[in-house]
Amino acid sequence: MTHATRSGSDICREYQVDPQQGLSEAQVDKQRTIAGTNELAAAPPIPLWRKVIQQLTDITSIILLIATGIAAYLAITSDSSWLKVIVIGAIIVLNVVITLFQEHHAEKALAALQDLHVPTVTVLREGTKTTLPAPELVPGDIVLLTAGNSVPADGRLLTAQNLTIDEAILTGESEAISKQTETLAADPDSIGDSFNLVFSGTAVTQGNGSFVVTATGMHTELGKIATLLNKTKKQKTLLQQRLSQLALRLTTIALIAGVLIFLLNFFLYQDNMADSLLIGISLAVAAVPETLPVIVTLSLTHGVRKMAQRRAIIRRMTAVETIGNVNVIASDKTGTLTQNKMTITRFWQPEQPVQKIDDLNELTPEQQQAFTYMGLATNAEVTDDGESHGDATELAIVHLLEKFNLHRRDFEKDYPRLDEDPFDSTKKTMATLHEMPDGHYVVIVKGAIDRLQLAQQPKEMMQVHDDFAANALRILGIAYREFPTKPTADWVEIEQELTLVGLIGLIDPPRPEVPAAIAKAHAAGIKPVMITGDHLATAKAIASDIGILQAGDQAISGAELRQLSDRELKDNIADYSVFARVSPEDKLRIITAWQANGATIAMTGDGVNDAPALKAADVGIAMGITGTDVSKNAADMILTDDNFATILDAVEEGRTVYHNILKAIEFLVGVNFAQIFLMLISVSLGWGTILIAEQLLLINVLADGLPGFYIGYEPGDRDNMQQPPVSKNRSLFADGLGWRLGLRALVFTLLVGGVYYLGRFSLTGGSQEQGMTMAFLVLALGSVIDVYPIKTHQMLSWRTLKHNRPLNISVTIAISLVLATAFVPWLQQAFALTNLSTSAWWITVPAIFGSVICLEITKYFRLKRKQRTAQSSADYDLD
Ligand code: ADP
Ligand code: MG
Repeated sequence: MTHATRSGSDICREYQVDPQQGLSEAQVDKQRTIAGTNELAAAPPIPLWRKVIQQLTDITSIILLIATGIAAYLAITSDSSWLKVIVIGAIIVLNVVITLFQEHHAEKALAALQDLHVPTVTVLREGTKTTLPAPELVPGDIVLLTAGNSVPADGRLLTAQNLTIDEAILTGESEAISKQTETLAADPDSIGDSFNLVFSGTAVTQGNGSFVVTATGMHTELGKIATLLNKTKKQKTLLQQRLSQLALRLTTIALIAGVLIFLLNFFLYQDNMADSLLIGISLAVAAVPETLPVIVTLSLTHGVRKMAQRRAIIRRMTAVETIGNVNVIASDKTGTLTQNKMTITRFWQPEQPVQKIDDLNELTPEQQQAFTYMGLATNAEVTDDGESHGDATELAIVHLLEKFNLHRRDFEKDYPRLDEDPFDSTKKTMATLHEMPDGHYVVIVKGAIDRLQLAQQPKEMMQVHDDFAANALRILGIAYREFPTKPTADWVEIEQELTLVGLIGLIDPPRPEVPAAIAKAHAAGIKPVMITGDHLATAKAIASDIGILQAGDQAISGAELRQLSDRELKDNIADYSVFARVSPEDKLRIITAWQANGATIAMTGDGVNDAPALKAADVGIAMGITGTDVSKNAADMILTDDNFATILDAVEEGRTVYHNILKAIEFLVGVNFAQIFLMLISVSLGWGTILIAEQLLLINVLADGLPGFYIGYEPGDRDNMQQPPVSKNRSLFADGLGWRLGLRALVFTLLVGGVYYLGRFSLTGGSQEQGMTMAFLVLALGSVIDVYPIKTHQMLSWRTLKHNRPLNISVTIAISLVLATAFVPWLQQAFALTNLSTSAWWITVPAIFGSVICLEITKYFRLKRKQRTAQSSADYDLD
């Protein structure tokens, strides 16, 4: 017999819990020792050996392993030494260790951030309603549910009003299921038929209810399939996808170049087979940026951490990058652009003048009636210990009543509430049904006045409404209808023929940071857009105050929006900056219209109905404080302070991450190309190789690899938020990155080739070893210090030099390692280097700085040109 065929009270008896009281602390402790915490077991971590294997089966590691094999073969069959094998082997080990260490570091940081988003639940314990973290639930707990909640455990329903639940996560059925409490006669066939049970992970779309918990954590239906969920693949960001392509292309180039060199060397210069192979393979290795994928992961992780510090929690890694590239931010008004601290300032009743609340002292009988009805149709409450529960609009009503020493609880003694038609953002009204002291019944409806079905519209109502709205007030009407007997028809039919008792006007001041954030968005080429359920006039008044609605911008209401075809909407979407009286479906159309224009759009949402829009937006943003569980689960990012300004902070961090990754590419890949050119040239000239495999590996893995990791820590450039966003299909190499890469490869080819030639052929006592040592030092040290000009778009200064400490430390380590190989005798021997003559040093040291100087000079001209274009576009603006 399952829980569905047993009564709720029977199950409560089993857990010895009183449904009105909840468990006691002692019972909770006892249950917890039996059932554990209410959490899904995390996917078991991948064991170390598996990660090592994964690393070693990477294409670059395979190439490296083959190189070691060939070196070993050489050591056995010829007089070549085992040193080569040891050195290449050591670098492979180092590469794997560094990669694993950095990845582990990143994973741990991310896991810590995940803990920032723990859902909470409302339970009855020891007779009082409390809010706790969902993991603390135990079997036997009495849990209260309302629309927007995510069900935190499996259980048997005890009460249900209008309760519907979306169980798609378990059943795949997208239609929400209506729930009830009656005991079923026979065991249901499936989860979808268990009408009196609720299941962990499903979403309450409507109504209220309570249930007794019967299973938690891995014992829930969700827990049973959790092993499946854990396996969902990690998504790659756009940049990561492009980088994989780039890496693939580089590897192909490397392999082709490697084969070419091998053939050249073997056939043209009759070098022996194994040596030629080794040269070819070392080239292939040299051309691949081994550390780039890890650097990207590190940059993204660092971005996630920085955003969390600035109150934006990332739920999907891809959002880190996408948020930096948005063109449009569509934001809810209430609570995000405004403070969500509402105060009723005006009050109006038919045939009466408008009342300022501040001037109101004694209530007339009509006012008394209006206030009573207002209170009856309100769910918010302030508890005796001063805690507020409920939405801001309703709390404003509670506070108004308190001022006159009125309380809903007292009203309900005379007018017991029989039923409720809850508020939802599509119909924008809510209604309650009450028994009256005289035995009649009354339905009270409160909400947007254009949605109230009034029997007749009082004179002046629209004037008063427009006047309130023009003053940026949010407007709520209260209306009623009496019935001699209890009405049984549908809510829609009951809420007709209403009589208006009054209008209230609520002020909700803008958040103080918002106007500055709006200006920042405009400067960054992003269009901020207001989306609200409020009336068009109210929305326009606030939007102009904060700078969203500017000269030339238009505002549109949901009703007008629905008149437009998709085509018309797409063509005109850019003209609108205010959308009023919108429904969640309208939000979806707005997103689609922008995306059809190629825009990347971020959209905020807080309600259950917003989930589809949050998923459709390029970046869906949920509210940490007022948002429902359902919206948070659908979002890519959560604002812990519900603040619009935080979105702009996230954009700034996102752009920094994007730029830093491009800088890492410039830093690493330019050297890889230089290495390919050098090898091709030297082998075709019959010089043998300028640099050998061990040296190339040392440069790529350590000298450039170590500083590369910390480019991701670079703070954003000052002009980050003064540039337009990068469009979706813009190539990685746009904005001159390709040119800069090519130029840097060329500079290094000339410098390294030049010093090699001098060291080997032209200096007195020249030798191949001396040439090679000079070439190695110039390429290794020159490419390390290049990190400074590359890491910032500004000219180098003392400030830009020192602001990234981890980078400076890693550069110091990298330089010390290179110098150690050049000076410590056994390392010198291992890397086939030699001592340089004084004249050789005189050539080498200046050459080391050649590339840095070139980079700074080209940067100077780039900045100049940018300034000029900025200047000319500013002139243009003035015309
Ligand atoms: P937003 O969150 O964008 O400000 P809402 O959908 O919450 O918009 O509100 C839209 C309209 O619905 C408001 O202008 C108001 O008239 C009405 N409304 C809002 N909250 C309530 C409520 N709790 N009860 C009744 N009506 C409400
Ligand atoms: Mg709202």
